[in-house]
Amino acid sequence: HIKIKVRSLDFWYQNRQILEHVSLDFTRHTITAIVGPSGTGKSTFLTTLNRLWENIPDAQMKGRVEIEFDGTFRDIYARSFSLTQLRRSVGMVFQTPNPLSMSIYKNVAFPLKLAGYKNRKEVGNKVEKALKQAYLWEEVKDRLHEKASCLSGGQQQRLCIARALILEPEVLLLDEPTSSLDQNAGRIIETLLLDLRERCTIIIVSHYLDQVGRIADTVMEFPLKS
Ligand code: ADP
Ligand code: ADP
Repeated sequence: HIKIKVRSLDFWYQNRQILEHVSLDFTRHTITAIVGPSGTGKSTFLTTLNRLWENIPDAQMKGRVEIEFDGTFRDIYARSFSLTQLRRSVGMVFQTPNPLSMSIYKNVAFPLKLAGYKNRKEVGNKVEKALKQAYLWEEVKDRLHEKASCLSGGQQQRLCIARALILEPEVLLLDEPTSSLDQNAGRIIETLLLDLRERCTIIIVSHYLDQVGRIADTVMEFPLKS
């Protein structure tokens, strides 16, 4: 089952073409690793999959990104496509953990708040579930109201993963999620990603080939040949 189809994607910064006719499929319940030298457009590609651009001129990007929702592929750049739906369906994790300066609990609950959830019990249950999925619950269950900045780097990154998971996204994008962490902290994240494959289509940019070997079902090397 294909979850994401990328078709003839071109991308330019000023006059420099970064992505050239990229056409790829991503399969559900798999981990795809994107590897390749620095500067080959891996981050740009992830940003494009998540439509994280503020405002993208037509001349800067060509091609299509389609994500399957309820059996139908929808072009995420179509005018009719809802960005709200995209934000709910695609979770994103960055290289450096970026918790908000608030409590552990509020960090994880934040997307629920944006999505309009009001019921405290429901929010509390979802926070617990996301923290469990991110392998963090046991470590933080007695300190949910401490600032997220009290956590170690590895814990902060798992917190960011919990936050990315709380709206139950079908796609999870990670841009070098373990590069700022020590090896042990990185290994925990690898194990939890293998667990998450059951729920999400996972795409991870990584420059650790040993890590890629341990977790990836598919490897794509940038720059891609068209
Ligand atoms: P990678 O993730 O593979 O290291 P990036 O997608 O970050 O590659 O960047 C691809 C190329 O585009 C790099 O040469 C980078 O310097 C350049 N680049 C990235 N962002 C911008 C930008 N906002 N404006 C202009 N050039 C950029
Ligand atoms: P603050 O950072 O202002 O101390 P908290 O992060 O402690 O706020 O809590 C935010 C809100 O979520 C509070 O109203 C709190 O009562 C509620 N809350 C915190 N933990 C839970 C939980 N486990 N289940 C349900 N509600 C909770």
